[in-house]
Amino acid sequence: MRKTLSTVSLAAVVAIALGMWLGPSIGWATFALILLTMVLISGNQHQKFQRWVRDLNAPPPPSMGPWDDVLAPIYRKLKQNRIDLQTLNRHLEGIMMAAEALPDGAVTLDQNMNVQWCNQTACQHLGLNLATDRHQSIFNILRSPEFADYAQDKAWEQPLLLHLSQRGRERAILLQLTPYGLGQFLLVSRDMTQVEKLETTRKDFVANVSHELRTPLTVLLGFLETLRDMPADSLPIEQRVRYEEMMLEQAQHMQAIVSDLLTLSTLESSPSAETAAVPLNCVIEQALHRVQALSNGQHVFVTNIDDNLWLEGAETELASAVGNLLTNAARYTPKDGTITTSWFMNEDGSATFSVQDTGIGIAPQDIPRLTERFYRADKGRSRATGGTGLGLAITRHVVVRHQAELNIKSRYGAGSTFSIHFPKERVRFAKD
Ligand code: ADP
Repeated sequence: MRKTLSTVSLAAVVAIALGMWLGPSIGWATFALILLTMVLISGNQHQKFQRWVRDLNAPPPPSMGPWDDVLAPIYRKLKQNRIDLQTLNRHLEGIMMAAEALPDGAVTLDQNMNVQWCNQTACQHLGLNLATDRHQSIFNILRSPEFADYAQDKAWEQPLLLHLSQRGRERAILLQLTPYGLGQFLLVSRDMTQVEKLETTRKDFVANVSHELRTPLTVLLGFLETLRDMPADSLPIEQRVRYEEMMLEQAQHMQAIVSDLLTLSTLESSPSAETAAVPLNCVIEQALHRVQALSNGQHVFVTNIDDNLWLEGAETELASAVGNLLTNAARYTPKDGTITTSWFMNEDGSATFSVQDTGIGIAPQDIPRLTERFYRADKGRSRATGGTGLGLAITRHVVVRHQAELNIKSRYGAGSTFSIHFPKERVRFAKD
């Protein structure tokens, strides 16, 4: 303003001087010309200003005369605001990313328990879809009377465990509400399905072990009590010997269960064992000798073993898997049946160990469950032959630890083939 006034005053002084020198009309004409020029310049600056206002990101136009002093600080302020906004956005993005990365689900709810925001994990846990469920009441999404009671009771120190079914899949979700901010609520969810499953497995396992040990223990105790209560000379010697043999059998069965349990626990708790090139043909031969002794000439044994084919692995573990498959073949194959043992290399360089029998076979519905601990397809025969129900569970662990695959093919009443398929990376040769 001061600049404009001084320019107009200067123009007046120049016009008066010219008027006094060349006549008043020249003076007035000069003054009018200067004013007109000033109006034109101002109009041009106004246009430039309007253009700049439309894109405030660009610096203000240069040579704006009296506007320069106003525009420069406005532009500086705008620039600083933009930088502050960018910093804020970055912080916000960081917080959102951290909330997304949370292993737990998080849903923010307003005062009326309407969904404001949630992370991806919460979407999976609760079947939420933020695009359609934002501003919807959480009670319309989580249609559970237990959750409604929990939310209303406001006793939120303890979480609530809900069993939700999503796309046919049952999930155990732990939910906890917490108030925050100005009357808002945070709903945290945690998937407990796996933990619950493990807990059930643990309980089942303890129950199974107790049950498995209780039977032989009861028999053993029965005999011992009988022997204790009877006068020493009242029992014929043959009967005493028979009792002792039966007691020994039960004790051996308990020992077998404990030994298999220890093997399983070692396999489950230890990292993969040290490996070496194992002459698997020798391991198979040794197991075959033991099983032939067990078979006592009742079965026909056929072998098809590549002596040159070795395997990189843990020898004791491999011996246990091979022994289990061969023992089972003998156990579940009636007299005069044939047991064929093969160890060979496949065309693609991988190797297969297989045991084929002409035994009792397995019903299709039992096959997927055979490697579960204590699962028996034929309970009577397993117990009668001293089976622990843990052999195939041990075998499965060994197979997994060798990156191999266990295949079971069987026809009920017609025999079974159990094969372990080892990857070619584990194959070695005798001459290596
Ligand atoms: P077990 O000690 O009872 O043999 P396993 O874990 O070795 O336990 O085997 C689990 C079950 O699988 C056995 O109880 C039996 O019913 C079935 N099974 C295993 N091998 C054979 C086989 N070769 N033929 C028929 N059934 C088998």
